[in-house]
Amino acid sequence: MPNIIIDAKTLEFKKGQTIIEAAQDNGIEIPHFCWHPKLSVSGNCRICLVEVEQMPKLVIACSTIASEGMVVHTKSEKVIAAQNAVMEFLLINHPLDCPICDEAGECKLQDYAYKYSLGESRFVEEKVQKDKRIKLGPNVMFDGERCISCSRCIRFCDEIAKDPELTFVQRGDHVTIRTYPGQEMDNPYSMNTIDICPVGALTSTDFRFKARVWDMSSNKSVCVGCSRGCNTDIWVRNNEILRQTTRYNEKVNSFWMCDHGRLETFKHVNAESRVHYPQIRKDGELVEVGWDEAFSEAVSHLKTFPKDQIAVVGSPFATCEDNFITAKFAKSVLSTGNLDFIRHTNPEFADDILRNEDVTPNTKGAVLSGLVPSQAGLDINGIIKAIKDQKIKALYLIEDDLVQCFPELESSIAKLELLIVHTSNYNSSTNYADIVFPASTYAEKHGTFLNGFGVLQRIRPAVATAELDRALDGMNMSRLDKFGTKFDSWAAGKKNEARPTWKILVSISKALGYKMKYNMAEEVFSDMASSIIELKGIDYDEISESGVQLKVEDNKTVNAG
Ligand code: SF4
Ligand code: SF4
Repeated sequence: MPNIIIDAKTLEFKKGQTIIEAAQDNGIEIPHFCWHPKLSVSGNCRICLVEVEQMPKLVIACSTIASEGMVVHTKSEKVIAAQNAVMEFLLINHPLDCPICDEAGECKLQDYAYKYSLGESRFVEEKVQKDKRIKLGPNVMFDGERCISCSRCIRFCDEIAKDPELTFVQRGDHVTIRTYPGQEMDNPYSMNTIDICPVGALTSTDFRFKARVWDMSSNKSVCVGCSRGCNTDIWVRNNEILRQTTRYNEKVNSFWMCDHGRLETFKHVNAESRVHYPQIRKDGELVEVGWDEAFSEAVSHLKTFPKDQIAVVGSPFATCEDNFITAKFAKSVLSTGNLDFIRHTNPEFADDILRNEDVTPNTKGAVLSGLVPSQAGLDINGIIKAIKDQKIKALYLIEDDLVQCFPELESSIAKLELLIVHTSNYNSSTNYADIVFPASTYAEKHGTFLNGFGVLQRIRPAVATAELDRALDGMNMSRLDKFGTKFDSWAAGKKNEARPTWKILVSISKALGYKMKYNMAEEVFSDMASSIIELKGIDYDEISESGVQLKVEDNKTVNAG
């Protein structure tokens, strides 16, 4: 590999790399606004100026190709003077409205003003005033005064979303961004421009003015909107999710996620339709009861059905751990092989960027976890037919809505002698349930999802439930670190009683006389790792932030993106 010398350090670089790429690969920061590793080079912000020996003038590191033996200085007097000048220039017309700007606290311009500017301006004239509230599209607002004309948003729409919608208009200090005439910025990935805008010029219409970033905590998670499983951060204040943003993972989603995933996939966690307590039907109405009463009600009913009259429907929205225990519960505890789950696909949702037609996070994981009928058992089609024919009389439904998926089944569901439902929110199926258990959402539990490309990824709780509160009681700090969740936003007060599906099933199994010794999701996972060949040798704590690639059969419903 060729060598370059940056700030007196000899470093290797890949042929064809620019100075900024060579520096970044070796952990050296060169400031940049307009450069982005996944976009074409525009070279217009000039903050990445560096000094190269033998070159007469400073050069921009984002477009200068590194070469063997090149000697680069990123902190010389000349470079610092240039950085100061660029910052002074960029701030001349900047409104400095950080106290009311959503970007404050995570703003490159703000950070660089501390790091690379002199902290004063010689400009005493009136600043240029521009439009401050332009709706570029349904999800993105534009503030012309904050824009530093880096063109990242334009290049994103052109090159990544493949939907040219934005352009510069005007010149000089009147230059600004607009959509093309008669067009909106409404591509399915438009909100990524908010992430890559280095200032607060582009903000989310959904999140605008909801919270200061330092008042929220964030935890690493995975989007549940489709089988891509984009990596995310879930941002919470007072135990309420306020936003979900993308997290870099080159194997899965690079720097991006779609607007649907960002906006729609967490709202049910905060929704009024949440089920807060276990419920049993009394005199035709669901009434809240304690866990023990709900368990004994479930047990006394389940005992009365012969195994061929019972079916269990698991879920591609549930974790591998939930589905592994569901399969065990069906086959070993209820002794039924009538076991499957509903596939949710939407070909119209798919594209060749990230979005997949399988609109669930864990179809592959559900199959891998054993959510398949036994040889003599019924699959989902067989279960539906048997419900219609009234041959299945007791249905155990986990984290899905059979009635919504198959409305024609409604009258047959109503005739079931027993319907037990695990769900986070009331739905069309809970209308007919005899017993409802409140199930934790993906944002309230530990577990794993296997995406459509065979990448096994971990989710972690970002929102507290009463169950998590109790689990944390008495834990020491090293245990908390292992737990992997930041607790600064853990709100005081009463919390939802939801529990992970696997945990509910462990309690019912025990009450039915079948011992399952699991107290934590990682214990379920280690049992899976010892019995499922594809998971052999994987340690739960070692599933890295970017996931583990498994060797599993390719999912035909997933596009390459
Ligand atoms: S709106 Fe943001 S991303 Fe777009 S040109 Fe202005 S500063 Fe750059
Ligand atoms: S592409 Fe799929 S996983 Fe990614 S953000 Fe969109 S819905 Fe979520």
